[in-house]
Amino acid sequence: MLKPEGNVPESPRVGGEEQNVPVLATRLDDAIGFFEKNLSDVLGWARKNSIFQYPFVTACCGMEYMSAMAGRYDIARFGAEFPRFTPRQADLLMIVGTINVKQSPVLKRVYDQMTEPKWVMAFGVCASSGGFYDNYATLQGADRVIPVDVYVPGCPPRPEQVLDGLKILQDKIQNQRHRAATMERAPEVQLDLAARQREHKTRSFLGKLLGK
Ligand code: SF4
Repeated sequence: MLKPEGNVPESPRVGGEEQNVPVLATRLDDAIGFFEKNLSDVLGWARKNSIFQYPFVTACCGMEYMSAMAGRYDIARFGAEFPRFTPRQADLLMIVGTINVKQSPVLKRVYDQMTEPKWVMAFGVCASSGGFYDNYATLQGADRVIPVDVYVPGCPPRPEQVLDGLKILQDKIQNQRHRAATMERAPEVQLDLAARQREHKTRSFLGKLLGK
């Protein structure tokens, strides 16, 4: 057990008999847990059945993407038929095709622009691992720059595989913890805030210096 160093008085909760006191969950804690879990389940159910995807299509897998989206395979059954061509309205980034190193910052930028909660599917072996383009120019998997939730193998993958990947993602969405609101700011916004604070400090410093 870690002991406090120097002259710091030992906390009554560290050591002694008090550490053996079991933690009691109050009825309020129980109730919050119950409602949080049910709310999370409902949000998970709603989110998994209303996936708006952003297709980041770069190569030949695009043909199979179109096939998977068309009427024959009817991806609308899974609530994922509407592509959104702005990342801010999408919650699933589908990386369809080869990503080269020069495209990586663009992919990262698109991912950062999506709002939480968001998920990523690597569509085909090129997006998953670089595929057979084992060279200096090709990114060896999209997960080198952004987190990927589901990998769909194949060159190109069959539409059935895409649907299978989508169902795996739906299970993942259902089982993760959802919150109705989050207080966390996106990193982009934090950076923006820090830049504005710096600018404000610089302006006030210059104002004082110039006597304004
Ligand atoms: S996985 Fe195959 S079909 Fe898909 S982008 Fe790569 S080479 Fe083209």
